[in-house]
Amino acid sequence: QQVLRLEALRKSYNIDQPNEIEVLHGIDLTIGRSDFAALIGPSGSGKSTLLNLLGLLDKPTSGELYLQGKPTSAMSDNQLTAMRGSNIGFVFQFHHLISAFSVLDNVLMPLMLNQGKPNKLAIEKARELLVAVGLEKFINSKPGQLSGGQQQRVAIARALITDPPLLLADEPTGNLDTRTAAEVFELFRKVNKERGCAILLVTHDPRLSAACDRTINLVDGRIESDSLNN
Ligand code: ADP
Ligand code: ADP
Repeated sequence: QQVLRLEALRKSYNIDQPNEIEVLHGIDLTIGRSDFAALIGPSGSGKSTLLNLLGLLDKPTSGELYLQGKPTSAMSDNQLTAMRGSNIGFVFQFHHLISAFSVLDNVLMPLMLNQGKPNKLAIEKARELLVAVGLEKFINSKPGQLSGGQQQRVAIARALITDPPLLLADEPTGNLDTRTAAEVFELFRKVNKERGCAILLVTHDPRLSAACDRTINLVDGRIESDSLNN
């Protein structure tokens, strides 16, 4: 059972220009439905590029990416947007919360983008998610009233509102202190276990990657190692 499968995925930038550069050189990778995996590698190795491809935010130069078994290379931009919206939740280092919106409305954002005004059911679900991430007291607060760790919890709740089978997280604890980072990490662990959501987490922190179930190491645009942690 896999949520993502990559076959011979390549990515070049500046195609047909003098500074054309291939940064991913044929990536084969499978992400299973219950994976809790870390993507690590030196700066410039291609992690952000790969994450953008996995999240259907950018297109590979060649190769195929299957999301939920469906090949995506021939999909239109509208189809890709729909696939992304229903299958992938994103958490970034800087959470991109909207400061003028309440915490509750921030969590509802992905649904508003998909289907307009949220119904009662959606609002109830957003509340439940905020309770699950320990923010029941802050439902009506603005993001600016929350700590960095709390804001990242809002971002995680927001990423889960569409019940995605896959969560992609780019340095989600990168700007948090060690203790808060550990708490946010435990929340990812809980989401993986209890919601059966596959998680791929990009991190520079070897302690975080070691705490995941699997570590994928990208070096110079190639997967150098991919192994289960004990
Ligand atoms: P990482 O996230 O591991 O630091 P990136 O995916 O950001 O790696 O970058 C991989 C390589 O691709 C780097 O050499 C970077 O300079 C180059 N690169 C990334 N994005 C672009 C872009 N939009 N245009 C040209 N080169 C890029
Ligand atoms: P990270 O902190 O994840 O390693 P980077 O600092 O490598 O990210 O890249 C930040 C952003 O800048 C990314 O969106 C990447 O695509 C873009 N980028 C990186 N290198 C280049 C480049 N040489 N030319 C254009 N854009 C780049």
